[in-house]
Order: sequence, then C-alpha cells, then structure tokens
Amino acid sequence: EEWQALREPIESGWLTQGPKVRAFEMAFAERHRVAHALATTSCTTALHLALATLGVGPGDDVIVPAFTWVATANVVLYCGAVPVFVDVEDDTALIDPDAVAAAVTGQTAAIVPVHLYGQTVAMSSLQNLAAGKGLMLIEDACQAHGARRENRRAGSLGDAAAFSFYPSKNLGALGDAGCVTTDDQALAERLRMLRDHGSRERYVHELLGRTDRMDGIQAAVLGVKLPHLDDWNSSRRELATRYLRGLAKLDGVRCLKEQDGGEHVFHLFVVRVAERDRIRQSLTDIGVGTGVHYPLPLHIQPCCAHLGYSEGEFPVAEKLASEILSLPMFPELLPGQVDEVVDGLRSLV
Ligand SMILES: *Cc1c(COP(=O)(O)O)cnc(C)c1O
Repeated sequence: EEWQALREPIESGWLTQGPKVRAFEMAFAERHRVAHALATTSCTTALHLALATLGVGPGDDVIVPAFTWVATANVVLYCGAVPVFVDVEDDTALIDPDAVAAAVTGQTAAIVPVHLYGQTVAMSSLQNLAAGKGLMLIEDACQAHGARRENRRAGSLGDAAAFSFYPSKNLGALGDAGCVTTDDQALAERLRMLRDHGSRERYVHELLGRTDRMDGIQAAVLGVKLPHLDDWNSSRRELATRYLRGLAKLDGVRCLKEQDGGEHVFHLFVVRVAERDRIRQSLTDIGVGTGVHYPLPLHIQPCCAHLGYSEGEFPVAEKLASEILSLPMFPELLPGQVDEVVDGLRSLV
C-alpha cells in the first residue's frame, strides 16, 4: 500500500504540498476532532511555528519540563524567548503541574507540556492555570499519537499541539515530517502562510516566512498508515500489559505509572533500575536492544548553559535520567519476546 501510495505524488508532480498533503491534513484533523491540521517538515518546525504564530518572542518566558527531547526547549530559543524549566513527577516522568504553577511570573507567555513516552499529561489543572493567567498552552504531542485523556485525543487539549512523524514515532513517515493541530482559525491561517514564505497568494509575501512544507510523498505514506494507528497502539498497550505483569514481582525494576483517566499509547516502555548502565550492557550482550530517553536533562545540557541552571536543581529529572531504560516496544514485537526480555532482566537485577 505504501509503495502504491508513493507513485501518485511522483507521477502527478505534486512533490511538496498538493492533494495528498491536503487529504492527510483533513484526515488527521478529523481524527483529533480539531478544525485544522497543518503539515510541516518536522515537529521541531511545527512547535516553532506554533509558538511564533501565537506571538511568543523576546521578553517572554515559556515553561517546559526539564526532562524531554531537546527540541521542546530549542524552539523557545528560536523565538528569542527564554525556556523556564520545571521538574517532572517521580511516578510518571511527566511535567509537574504544581511546579508549573509555582514557576509562572508576569513574563510567562506559554506552557508546553510534553506527553512523554505516550502518556498524556493530566491537563485540567494546566488548562485552568492557563485560562486564569491568560497563558497559551501548546502540547508537545510528538510521542502521543492517538493517546487519550478522558474522551479527547492528545492534540486537542490546548491552544495548539505539535506532532512528529519521525520514522520511529507511533505514526512515522519515510523521513522527517510533522504537523500542528488547532481549533484556532486565525492561527491556522497565519501558520499556513508562515510555512510557505508568508504567502497566501503566489509571489506575494505578507509575512517573513520559511520553507517548512511537508513533502507529498510523506503525506501519501502517512495517509496509508493513519487508519492503522489505533490497531498499532492497541498492540503496544497489550505488550505493555504483558511487561507490567511480568515485571510486577521483580524487585529492582520499577515501572512508571499509568494515570487514571488517560489511555497511554506506549511510544516507549520505560523502566527504572539502579546500575542502569551495567544492566543495559548485559542486555545488549544477550541480544536485547534498549535505549535511554534521555540521559541528560535539558537544564544541564551544554546548549542551555547560558540559561544559568546547575546540577541538583531538578532532582527528579536528574534521578530519572540516571535510572531509566527503554525496553523493546513496537507493534510487531512478539509476546514471547517480551517474556525473553523479562527473563533477561530477572537474571540481571
Ligand atoms: C521527536 C520529538 C520531537 C521532535 O520531533 P522532530 O520531528 O524530530 O522534530 C519533539 N519533542 C518530543 C517530545 C519528541 O519526542
């Protein structure tokens, strides 16, 4: 199906934008019950465009978790604004709403919660806070395609949201791609212009824009894969349940908590272990590939040194970074392979 879908943009010559991109945007928006989806070249681009379009700029602070992929903070810096880090919760690794509330000042313009590992942040307190203080709420939904909170999907819980279709995400393209979702008509119109050199009418450039458009072949592939997303996520959830059952009785391995009221889509299945690096190496030795997402929190990344944070400031993020281990997780993983990983861990901890 994917090979077949690739032919059309190539044969029609619609290699960037075009009907496949439009069709994917409509399908993605409908699925999230939002008015608009705007396809871009990546999630980094999508987040940057969303913040810029909402007016984040010099003099603004944007609250982001200290524990996430680096793009979440970089996009704030691209806008000339300042990322203000807050710690995450120990049991979920998600942004701590109380820490967010404590970090709000007169300079705060926006909050970017990250639905890390596939679990949505419990958004209601952040929604109340944002509404009360007049702050913008932009979801980083790059790891949470299809995840739900109550009856709504990640991507429909703030003023705007950004998704990544990097190949390894729950919905992946054949390269880099991303999108913004929003209900805000004015935001959608501006963003559509900004991603295409500020133009609405060809060769008339109303705004200083960029070249941030999604390729037709990425949209064609994503259009084929999108209808399968819920099945793939169900498969991830079943595998996660098997891991949780297998690991429950294992002292020395702690699983992160799935909160009530949401549906986790397990972009990653992350456990916590002491002596992580030793265990990781031993798993590699018996043929089990693992990952660490992420070994260095953002406040102590070299690229953020000028922000003036120091080690020890966000103890939960720092402890997580030293203990987390991402076990194999993808829809095609076999139940027997999950059992092998659990047995491997049992012999090591
Ligand atoms: C993958 C990811 C991004 C960036 O996505 P790209 O499409 O690679 O730009 C941003 N935030 C989080 C949390 C991610 O996992």
